[in-house]
Amino acid sequence: MKKFLHTTVSLFLIIPFVFISCKKKTSTEEAITREVPRPVNVILLIGDGMGLAQVSTTVYFKKDGPSNFQRFEYIGLINSSSADAKITDSAASGTAFACGELTYNGAIGVDTAKQSITNIIEYVSRSGYQTGVVATSSITHATPASFYAHAASRNMNELIATQLTESEVDVFMGGGRKFFENREDGEDMIQRLKDRNFNIYYSLEELPAMDSGKKYGILAAPDGLPPVYQGRGEFLSQATEKTLNYLSGKQQPFFLMVEGSQIDWAGHENNGEYLITEMLDFDRTIGKVMDFAEKNPGTLVIVTADHETGGLALSANSGSGMGANYDEIMPTFSTGGHTSTLLPVFASGPGAEKFAGIYQNNQIYHKIVDLLSLE
Ligand SMILES: [Zn+2]
Repeated sequence: MKKFLHTTVSLFLIIPFVFISCKKKTSTEEAITREVPRPVNVILLIGDGMGLAQVSTTVYFKKDGPSNFQRFEYIGLINSSSADAKITDSAASGTAFACGELTYNGAIGVDTAKQSITNIIEYVSRSGYQTGVVATSSITHATPASFYAHAASRNMNELIATQLTESEVDVFMGGGRKFFENREDGEDMIQRLKDRNFNIYYSLEELPAMDSGKKYGILAAPDGLPPVYQGRGEFLSQATEKTLNYLSGKQQPFFLMVEGSQIDWAGHENNGEYLITEMLDFDRTIGKVMDFAEKNPGTLVIVTADHETGGLALSANSGSGMGANYDEIMPTFSTGGHTSTLLPVFASGPGAEKFAGIYQNNQIYHKIVDLLSLE
């Protein structure tokens, strides 16, 4: 009864507004509507496992200038709960970003009935967009896979690799070579990629000047790339820069997803050094993207995370005996798994103000799609 009353009251409140909004718009109102800035290009950066404490490490541990997160004007927060659990995994959260729907943990681009749902790369490709995916995990790993594949389980790496060869992706850079060659099913997906106009390389160093008439794939490791603290170097920022040069060299708009994949792995390992070096690497990549966006004004940049990993706290170093040292931060973890904390969203460029507020993670997709307003 209470619910019925509430609904009835709500209807009475809403009806007058419906009528108001139906009246003919004045020319001033129309002018205002037209002036809503619309992005041309969209770059979505996802820090896998990156909560606010992880972001904060770039403020406290970066030595060469301020954190690049400080360059964003609009900040929001998202809830990342999936359709079947308060705490999401990367697959369900990646699918929420890529397809706009909440689904079950483990799902790649499919809904709760395991049916394929359109992802943003498929959506923008219909309007002539160029698209790219960059990661430091296998390119078939949950987050990047959500942007081009449809699989009932994130563990179906060979199926996901096959789907990459059939996807609309124009450029990809990451690891995962073993899922394309020497496969259990005996298929040669490297050859399949080449048959589909992809030039394939096994390191960034091998990559020649990129020709805008071709597609490119880099598979720089058998599975995930090594961590920064074990010698990955600047793969993520360099791959992102090369991808941006390639995409912007074409006379078409583009969508690019870049994942800082191993922030999550550092959290699972409860390894502070691993985590900070991955965050500084992601921060450097954000810096390159923001430099690009400043030179290419139609570019919307969004940075967010799929979930937090490790329950990271930036605690005072408790040391031995003398009590806590409040002038020394010691990364401290509370779990080896994911957590449900709200996650920060940073946005810059045309329409960035739409990303302020507190909302569900799948709204990122809807906000991007609404701003692009493609046919
Ligand atoms: Zn994740």
